[in-house]
Amino acid sequence: MVIQVESKENYGEWYLDIVEKAGLSDKRYPIKGMNVWTPYGWKIMRSIDGFIRDELDDTGHDEVCFPLLIPETEFKKEKDHIKGFDSEVYWVTKAGDNELDVPLVVRPTSETAMYPMFSLWIRSHQDLPLKIYQIVNTFRYETKQTRPFIRVREIHFFESHTCHATEEDAQRQIDEDLRILERIMDRLCLPYFLLKRTEWDKFPGAHYTVGIDTVMPNYRTLQLGSVHHYRTNFSVPYDITYEEEGGEHKHVHQTTYGMSERLLGAVISVHGDDKGLIMPPDIAPYQVVIIPIISKKNTEEVRLEAEKAAIILRESGIRTHLDNRDDRPGSKFYDWEIKGVPLRLELGARDIENKVVTFARRDNGEKGTISSESLVSGVRLILAEIKKDLKAKADAFQASSVQPIDSFDNIPERVVSFPWCGSEECGGKIEEKDIKILGTPYPHVKHEGRCLICGKESELLAYAARSM
Ligand code: ZN
Repeated sequence: MVIQVESKENYGEWYLDIVEKAGLSDKRYPIKGMNVWTPYGWKIMRSIDGFIRDELDDTGHDEVCFPLLIPETEFKKEKDHIKGFDSEVYWVTKAGDNELDVPLVVRPTSETAMYPMFSLWIRSHQDLPLKIYQIVNTFRYETKQTRPFIRVREIHFFESHTCHATEEDAQRQIDEDLRILERIMDRLCLPYFLLKRTEWDKFPGAHYTVGIDTVMPNYRTLQLGSVHHYRTNFSVPYDITYEEEGGEHKHVHQTTYGMSERLLGAVISVHGDDKGLIMPPDIAPYQVVIIPIISKKNTEEVRLEAEKAAIILRESGIRTHLDNRDDRPGSKFYDWEIKGVPLRLELGARDIENKVVTFARRDNGEKGTISSESLVSGVRLILAEIKKDLKAKADAFQASSVQPIDSFDNIPERVVSFPWCGSEECGGKIEEKDIKILGTPYPHVKHEGRCLICGKESELLAYAARSM
């Protein structure tokens, strides 16, 4: 029997249904918002982590692994940072029967864990730039309704932290971060906005924050990560200094960059359809699934040919799964559609006779045949087309989701854009209208207009949306 998947029109229910039926995560773990990564979901996340690791290694970052616990004394050194995180941190206050003298924070992010060490590691200008990263879990006491990968209390993420001699060097790091982002998002076929957050919404302690947002099927935006320029806001309280060639001691300029498991939440939401997930080929645990179409007469021959095809594909580096289960082909098709395997190959007696393999694309349902002789190049070509088409479709959706407005009456269920003078006063009045200002395009583009609230001439185009 085929179990129906929710329709994507009911995005909220559809999302939960797909996460469960595709085997991505199990939310029945007895702590709300802390879910179990089940094998298929973890395979995908590891593959995303792998791309992140490659990119950071290639750009001169070194991977580290810091302790999970941070002493309260270090955590409280930067005042804005504390204000921003105080209400959502978990505390460890006891060890065995003893109350701890200094309570420990379970990391909500790692600035306050790393920076006391940076002040020991960095001595001279020759120690700069310092570029490190880690891929770990972080903990935040989320009070809103939780949702797998999108809003959780134990968050899988990467964070890179860098120290530089000058503000300009730190700025160049941010430019590099954004190039890294472009390559990662290309793998995931995800479009995104880069928006400089408002002063009141930037990361606690940052000089400025650029948010990375993508649009969900319900036209709400999801923040996938962010890039921050700290200037010397942390290096002063944490006393991270270096000695210049002339012997003078100066504070380092710092940046951070982070993205979380929300990347997977976005992949599910943006690409999936009424039949289930659609995995971008670069991160699909299986890029190809082979289903032998067996009848009574030719069982052995079909099995053998299917195995041969699987070996050829695997040897050429294409992640291939041969589904030899004793089940009807239709039921197997259904299982792999839910899991979003980009390309299905079918092999039956007639295919063998015609020296072809039958294929079906998961993204658009297109079917056809590939000659057995050119199986590898044929599969590669189709996977490349799937990647291109997924990206184009997602780009078109994001483009269509933005609507310029000239008044705040009847705000459409979209991402809206409008001229804004940039003042906190007007910003506050805008956010009273049940939307949140995401920020202004980064890098800055001059947009001439008049602020929709105060009517003053403005150069900023603001984006706002109802957020997830
Ligand atoms: Zn204004």
